[in-house]
Amino acid sequence: MNPASDYRFGSWKGPACVLVWFTVILLAATSIWGYETEHVVLVIIDGLRYTEGLGDTNHTYVPRMYELSKQGAVVEPFTNDRHTNTRRGIPAIWCGGWTEVPTFADRHCGGVDNQCCELPTIFEYYRKQLSRPQEDCIYVLGDVGCIWKASFDADYGPDYWPLYHCEGSTDLEVWDQAQEILKAYHPSFLLFYLARVDHFGHSGSWGYYTRSIEIADDIVGMLWDFIQADSVYANTTTMFVTNDHGRHTDDFSGHDCDCEGCRTIQLLAVGPDIKQDLVSTVPRTLCDITPTIGELLGFETERASGSVMHELFEGPDTTRTPSR
Ligand SMILES: [Zn+2]
Ligand SMILES: [Zn+2]
Repeated sequence: MNPASDYRFGSWKGPACVLVWFTVILLAATSIWGYETEHVVLVIIDGLRYTEGLGDTNHTYVPRMYELSKQGAVVEPFTNDRHTNTRRGIPAIWCGGWTEVPTFADRHCGGVDNQCCELPTIFEYYRKQLSRPQEDCIYVLGDVGCIWKASFDADYGPDYWPLYHCEGSTDLEVWDQAQEILKAYHPSFLLFYLARVDHFGHSGSWGYYTRSIEIADDIVGMLWDFIQADSVYANTTTMFVTNDHGRHTDDFSGHDCDCEGCRTIQLLAVGPDIKQDLVSTVPRTLCDITPTIGELLGFETERASGSVMHELFEGPDTTRTPSR
C-alpha cells in the first residue's frame, strides 16, 4: 500500500476524523467570529480638550497617546453630543446612553444626598450576565468623597455594582493605586478615572493645564506598558481612552456648552482586536463605548442607546481610512 494514501482525506474515517474536523471548524469559527480580548481597561481623562489631545497634529502634550494611536485606532469625530459636564457625561459613558441621574440618600456616605443612574451601567451588565465577582470589575479613582453610584434598576442594581476604589489625590497617586489593584486582583474590567486635567483647566493656568495633560499622557503610556509586561494582561487586553467632555473653544478654563471645543472629545482604542493605525471617520459619541466593550467581552447592553463600533475591529468590515 502506498504510504502516501494515509494522508489523503479519504483515509480519515471514524471518530478520530470527526474529532479532527470538529476542532478545525471550531478554530476557524473562533478566528472569524470570536475576539481575542479577555480584559478591558477604560481610561477617562476628565475635560481634556481635543485640540490639546490627539486633535493637535503636533501632539505636543500627548506623545505617548499619539504613539499608541499608531498601534490602534482613533475616531474622528468623536463627541459628547448632549451635556458637556462631568455629572452627566460620566454616567453616559457607564450606561452607553444619556441617563437621568436621580438623587438618593446614600447610606454608604452617612445618608447624604448622592446621585445614581436611572439606566443600568456597564458594571452591572458585565457582572450579572457573566456572573463575575465584584473584584473582577473595579472602578479606580481619587478620593472624591461620596462617589456617584450606579443604578438601582430592578434587573440589575447594587448587587452588581463595581468595587469602588477611591484613594489618592493627584493623578499619579491614583495611578499608584491602579497598579496595586491590577497586581492584586487582575480585574477583567477596570475603569480608571483621572480628574486633574479638568481641575487645572478650571484654574485658568495654561501651564498647569498642559502639564496635567502631559502627566495623564504619561500615565496612559505607563498603563499600556504595565499591561504588556503582565502575563495575565499581555496581548489579551484592549484599552480605551476617552473624555467626558472638552472645553470651550475660546476659553479653556470652562466648559458645559454646545461649542465645538466642549463637544469634541477623544476615543483611542488599542488592543488585539483593534485595527492598527486607523483614523475612523464614522461619527461616534461617548454612548458607543459601553456597547463596544460589551461586544468584546461578551455581554449585552440592552438598555444602551449607543451601538457597537464594529468599524474599529479587525476583520472583514472595511471602513479603514488612509493612515495619517
Ligand atoms: Zn469641569
Ligand atoms: Zn463650550
